[in-house]
Amino acid sequence: MRRFYRLLSFFIAAVAVGAPGLAQTPVDWIWTARYVVTMDEQRRVIENGAVAIRGDQIVEVGSRAAVDKAYQAKQRLDRPDAILTPGLINTHTHAAMSLFRGIADDLRLQEWLEKFIFPAEAKNVDAEFVRWGTRLACLEMALSGTTTFTDMYYFEDTVAAATKEAGLRGMLGETIIGFPSPDFKTPQTALAGTEKFFQAFANDPLIIPAVAPHSIYTNSDETLKAARELADHYSKPLVIHLSETKTENDESLAKRKMTPTAALDAMGVLSGWTVAAHGVWLNDADLKIIKARGTGLSHNPSSNMKLASGVAPVLKILGLGIPMGLGTDGVAGSNNDHDIMVEIDLAAKLQKVTTGDPRALPADQVFAMATILGARALRLDKMIGSLEKGKRADLITVRLDAPHAVPMYNVYSQLAYSLQGSDVSDVMVNGRPIVRDRKMLTLDKQTIMAKAAEYQERIKKSIQ
Ligand SMILES: [Zn+2]
Repeated sequence: MRRFYRLLSFFIAAVAVGAPGLAQTPVDWIWTARYVVTMDEQRRVIENGAVAIRGDQIVEVGSRAAVDKAYQAKQRLDRPDAILTPGLINTHTHAAMSLFRGIADDLRLQEWLEKFIFPAEAKNVDAEFVRWGTRLACLEMALSGTTTFTDMYYFEDTVAAATKEAGLRGMLGETIIGFPSPDFKTPQTALAGTEKFFQAFANDPLIIPAVAPHSIYTNSDETLKAARELADHYSKPLVIHLSETKTENDESLAKRKMTPTAALDAMGVLSGWTVAAHGVWLNDADLKIIKARGTGLSHNPSSNMKLASGVAPVLKILGLGIPMGLGTDGVAGSNNDHDIMVEIDLAAKLQKVTTGDPRALPADQVFAMATILGARALRLDKMIGSLEKGKRADLITVRLDAPHAVPMYNVYSQLAYSLQGSDVSDVMVNGRPIVRDRKMLTLDKQTIMAKAAEYQERIKKSIQ
C-alpha cells in the first residue's frame, strides 16, 4: 500500500512539472481552432479542435483539451475565431498564364486563341515568363487556401522550381501538343523532356511530375499512346483536357464515329492513372468507361460558364462514385482568378440552376469536391484531402471575424456560400507554414507584383 502511494505521488509530481517524456509526446506544431473540419470518413467537425503535427505529418486530430494533454508542441497557432480545414485542392490550371489575366475577354474561344493567346504566347513565353507567372499564381493560390494544384503548361521544370519555392504541392505536367510550343518544337522532344522531368522529380516531397497531352484534338494517336506508355513506365499520372466543348465532341464523332472518351479508351490512353479536365459533354457510355478505368475528373465551373462551354453532369458523375474535384483552369480569359472558394460557391449554384433543384450539390458535398474528392480525383487521397493521422500536414485556417462570416449556424454552409478566399488566414503545406496572418512567408509579394506590372507593359506592346 505504501509503495502504491509512493508511486502515485511520483506520477502527480511528474505531471505537475509537465515532464514531456512521461506525460506528453513532443510534436513540432499544434494548431487549434474554434472548429476543425476534418473531411474524414465520418465527416467529423470538432468544436474547439486541434491538430498535432510532427515533421510533414499529422499525428493527431481531436479536441483541443485532448491534444494539449497528450502532446507538447515546439510551436503553436491558436485561432479561437477560425475554422481549420484541409488545404484546398485545385485539380486543373495553367498557372503561369496568370500574367495574361484579362488580356482579352468575352470572345469566342477560336477568336480569343488566334487573335490574342497564341500571338501573346509566341512573343512572350520563355522560362522567365513562366517563373514569374507561376510565382504570381502560387501567391494567389496560397493566399486563398489552395495547398495542391494540378498544372499543365510549358517550361514545367521552371513551374516545379517556383512551386517548391512557394512551398506548395503540385501535380505538374509539360503540355504535349501537335505544333511547336515555346520550349519544344515537336511532341517527340516534349515527351523526351517529360521523361527527364520524371527523373529529376522522381521522389520529390512536393512535386508529382505528370505527362500532359493537351487533348485528343491537338495530338496524334501515336503521341497520345506514347504519353500513356511513358506515364505507366514511371508510374506517374497522365493529365488531359476531355470533352470540354461541344465542338470537340462533334469533331470526334464526325472523324472517328466515337466520342473523345471512347476514342481515347480504344487507344488505351485511359487505362492507368489519369486526371481529365472539364468533362462537360460526357454521356452515359463515357461515364461507364471513366468509372471502369478509375479516371479522376476536374470540374471548372467558372471556365465552363465564362466560355459558354456548357454544364458538366456533376450530379451524375458523383452519383456513380466517380471522383471529381474543382479547378480554376487558366486565368487568362477563362476565369480570371485562382480562388477555389469561388469555384465551390459557383459549382453548387450551377447545379441548382440547371437541374431546377435547390437540393442539388449541397454545401458539404461541394466542400468535399474542394478537398477529399479532389484528392481522390488525383489519386492522392492516401496522402492529402482530409485531416487524419498519418496524412501529410496540409491545412488552412479561415477567419470568422468578418461581417459576412456571422452568425454561423452551419460550418459547411459558411464555407460554401459566405466565406471567401480572402478570409484564409494561415496555410501549412507538408508541415511547413507558408502563410501566416495573410502574409506569404515564402515568396516576396512586392517583387512579384512589380514584375507583373512590368510584364503587363511588355505584353501589351507585343500584341499591338
Ligand atoms: Zn485547361
